[in-house]
Amino acid sequence: MAAHRTDTIAAIATPPGAGGIGVIRVSGPRAPDIARAFLGRAPRPRHAHYAVFRDPDGEVIDTGLLLHFPAPASFTGEHVLELQVHGSRPVLHALLQHLRAMGARAARPGEFSERAFLNGKLDLAQAEAIADLIGAGSQAAARAAQRSLQGVFSRQVHAVVEDVVALRMQVEVAIDFSDEDIPSLAPARLRDGIAALMQRLDALLAGARRGQRLTDGLHVVILGRPNAGKSSLLNALAADERAIVTEQAGTTRDLLRETIVIDGVELTLVDTAGLRDSTDPIEREGIRRARNEAASADLVVQVLADGDGPDPALSSPATSTLVVHNKIDLTGQPATRRIIDGIEHVHLSARSGEGLDLLRESLRHHAGADSEGAFSARARHVDALRRAARHLGDADAALAAGGAWEIAAEELRQVQAVLGEITGEFGVEDLLGRIFANFCIGK
Ligand code: GDP
Repeated sequence: MAAHRTDTIAAIATPPGAGGIGVIRVSGPRAPDIARAFLGRAPRPRHAHYAVFRDPDGEVIDTGLLLHFPAPASFTGEHVLELQVHGSRPVLHALLQHLRAMGARAARPGEFSERAFLNGKLDLAQAEAIADLIGAGSQAAARAAQRSLQGVFSRQVHAVVEDVVALRMQVEVAIDFSDEDIPSLAPARLRDGIAALMQRLDALLAGARRGQRLTDGLHVVILGRPNAGKSSLLNALAADERAIVTEQAGTTRDLLRETIVIDGVELTLVDTAGLRDSTDPIEREGIRRARNEAASADLVVQVLADGDGPDPALSSPATSTLVVHNKIDLTGQPATRRIIDGIEHVHLSARSGEGLDLLRESLRHHAGADSEGAFSARARHVDALRRAARHLGDADAALAAGGAWEIAAEELRQVQAVLGEITGEFGVEDLLGRIFANFCIGK
């Protein structure tokens, strides 16, 4: 995969105008020459040099620090320079312009991380974790991204790949010795191996799904009839954050949407007026939209005012549902959180705040924020794990159907290839542009 990278890139690595410190990063073969031009002598590796940065006319652009990380012991694996100056937009732009004159070109978004990946400093899942860390919407998401960056996710993928390789070898041997009766190579034994592998893959998939929810944030839809107390609940959850006023509550039969993000959890409020009267075409349209919202959610919270029962029209087997019984200050019920018939029920009062902590706890749990050792993951990874599981299932079916060894061998090869897409070892060349384009410039 070693591409030809003879050019040097430069970019502002801190948001210009943010004040404070401004950082420009340079990577490529020209970096040592650029350092020498600024310092008037060769830079010492990993040493903070005080530097006066001058433009070609000798005019001082700024003073600051210059650090040189020689290849290959750098983030990108190339010669890297870091220039620390004042976080002033004109200073940073003048410096960048001067760097271009010295032979560096402007880096594309994510190009530093891409080079780190291409030079084998990080695998693809780790590189993606950098973007996820920068974009993390909560402490839990940041911790999860940090774990993926440290290679927790990649190591689990590698462990599964090793099992696949072992199984592939057994199948290949079974093909070679198919005429002989060797018990350890009987289809039944190999199918045991596949079953064990499937369990590991399922566990990894569950972890990746949690990781994706943490990375993307949990999408929660709060449904309920007008006046059930949805807006009050959202306001109470948001506490110090932006307050939301739903002016038309109960006055329209269409869906109202309000969205707020609290600690990485995105809450969308949907009014489900007139759910029960399904003969009215407008209300039927309302039900259809509410169902659509619910179907795309990770979690549906049905808010009921005391006495109302859950709305069966809205339960969807695919989405987890949580039922909030609001207004316990009126009924005198205690605040509780319990599971009845597999559905979680929380009794609380949006007005008094009693029981809100139980709901917060539950939301955190659904968001995966409290899962030990959680790592960040992306839809791309979840998709690859699902495809790997399908190929593994097909390998098993081939063996079950009476030892179709060659088919099983090919399916296992596919499992390995698909898992390799996660860490970037296989067939991702055409994906790289898209993956790194979503990074920030300078990363
Ligand atoms: P929405 O239409 O579902 O968004 O409901 P609102 O949040 O607008 O609340 C409807 C009415 O119920 C308002 O008058 C609220 O003040 C009241 N309400 C909401 N939550 C509670 C609660 O926990 N206890 C009491 N007593 N009233 C509440």
